[in-house]
Amino acid sequence: MNFSKIKDFFSNNKNILNYTFLIVFVLLIVSVVMLKSGFGNFLNTMELKTFDLRQSVIAEKKTVSDDIRIITVDDESYEYVINKYGEWPIPRHVYGEILDYVESQNPAVVGFDLLFVHSMRNNKNSDDRLGAAFKKYDNAFTAINFDDRDFTVRKPVVLPAEISHESESGYSDMPIYKNCRAIIPQILNNTKNIGHINTSKDDDGITRRITLTVGYPVYKYENGNYEQKEVRYYDYMTYNMFKKFANKQFPLLSTAKPVILNWYGETGLEDKKNFKYIPMWKVIESMENGKEKLPADTFKNKVVFVGTSVFSLSDIKSVPTSKYMPGVEIHATLFNNLMDNSFIHQANSATNILIALVLAGIVAFVCFYCSSVAIATGISVVLSACYLIFSTLIMQWANVWIWTVLPILLTIISIIAVYITKYILKSRDFELTYKLATTDGLTDLYNHRFFQDQVRLCIADCRRYDRHFSLIMIDIDFFKKFNDTYGHQAGDAVLRGVAHTLKKCVRSSDIVCRYGGEEMVIILKDTGFDEATAIAEKICKTIASKPFRIAPNTDKQVTISLGVATFPECGVEPQEMIEFADKGLYAAKENGRNQVGKVNIGE
Ligand code: GH3
Ligand code: MG
Ligand code: MG
Repeated sequence: MNFSKIKDFFSNNKNILNYTFLIVFVLLIVSVVMLKSGFGNFLNTMELKTFDLRQSVIAEKKTVSDDIRIITVDDESYEYVINKYGEWPIPRHVYGEILDYVESQNPAVVGFDLLFVHSMRNNKNSDDRLGAAFKKYDNAFTAINFDDRDFTVRKPVVLPAEISHESESGYSDMPIYKNCRAIIPQILNNTKNIGHINTSKDDDGITRRITLTVGYPVYKYENGNYEQKEVRYYDYMTYNMFKKFANKQFPLLSTAKPVILNWYGETGLEDKKNFKYIPMWKVIESMENGKEKLPADTFKNKVVFVGTSVFSLSDIKSVPTSKYMPGVEIHATLFNNLMDNSFIHQANSATNILIALVLAGIVAFVCFYCSSVAIATGISVVLSACYLIFSTLIMQWANVWIWTVLPILLTIISIIAVYITKYILKSRDFELTYKLATTDGLTDLYNHRFFQDQVRLCIADCRRYDRHFSLIMIDIDFFKKFNDTYGHQAGDAVLRGVAHTLKKCVRSSDIVCRYGGEEMVIILKDTGFDEATAIAEKICKTIASKPFRIAPNTDKQVTISLGVATFPECGVEPQEMIEFADKGLYAAKENGRNQVGKVNIGE
């Protein structure tokens, strides 16, 4: 690789690099302000949408584990249950029988994403049957839900300590629940495999993550009071199931951050990439009558979830890849993520801002470098598209979520900033070129060309509006001698001094120009002959009385001779006016210098 070429490239484009760094620095401030302000929420909401989009794209490439089976109450099963048992919910002994049936095939673990709530219909015999089934199997799990119901409405229950998990402090944005829905004592007394299954939604109503929850459901009953014990949970049922399944610790339980799930796509598709749903009616038929018989190894070594997917039972959530996903599939997704260790990790804010600045910086450099707006914009669009593809690929391959909204927004701002900067630089260039073209470098007066243009314009204006204007032609007396005596440097200093004094003697609307050599000319707008002569007299006196510094501690004085001409009396063409003023100037010289030359109009 030829590094010297790269070095050359950057040293040749130092200015562009400087401006790029300036823009990147401004963008850094802009992004910090945006993120800290209310706009940050908007960016975040937009970012969530792009996360969903990426998840939907990469879900196509993902395949769920074949170890997971979901027994579900779907539409058909719901109708079947209503016909068979007369109402919902299913009598609890049926779940006891289903558990026995599934366990007869030796599954790895079984989890009921169903709440066997104490206050709902309860029939002692039926509940005893379910409790007895749970008692038999140490790989069968069931769920409770935390909430914030008032103690006066619902008394808290004493839950087995095993379902809690105490962890380090440092939780700021986790939901905190004070109560839970008590489940039947037949389960509480017969198994320790109880876990919570709360899920939480982002602000836009979409479930993307399993948030660490702080709950107070473990109570010690002392002196007539319930003492609350603070504990934390993730989806604890699924955690316990995974622990049993893999004999592993929940890898992320010790962190206070929510785990972001890696979704597997649209729910309910009859697709081998998706979770295998087995309708509950088939399980019941197979179990009771041997009809619709399921193969004897349907659940062998499988992770079996039992839940509902029918809409009317309302355990349906929106997730990034599916508008209506049954809660049970969310738990299956969590379980599958645990199996693959494929949770999504969000890059931290500093990294995201850095990535955004690098992208915006590259785009800014390209826009500065390319003179063609079309090519620069084209390259910027291609770069942005490449970044979007990259962000999707990195989510697919490394399970990493990098922001896309801020980088694209900064890129757009940087393109606009580049063109504003280019415009300012161009107009400054133009101003400089204009100044160079119209002024004289030594005296900073307008130059001869500008003078000629202005005289022509003044004549045209005065003709149209029937007005007058005057010229004063000025020549420094014995300037050749001055130069010869004190040197050209001193002469230059005097020229500058005289020019400066002339500018101060007239109105800002008057135009002072260097005609050539040591001759200067002033255009006085809306000024008649007498008034111009009076101004010329004043200038003559001012110069004659003013010492000019030609060297340290050395001041010298000069005098000037002047001639006046006025439109239209002294001439109606530029040349005629200049000639008339010159006549006055010569008259002054002939008459002894240091004066305004008198020439009668019409002579
Ligand atoms: P008069 O009173 O008749 O005008 O005498 P003069 O010596 O001023 O007249 P002349 O036109 O013969 O000389 C003009 C001199 O002005 C010649 C030149 O040395 C000097 N001069 C012209 N332009 C410059 C300049 O830019 N710098 C300096 N230092 N001298 C200049
Ligand atoms: Mg001269
Ligand atoms: Mg002269």
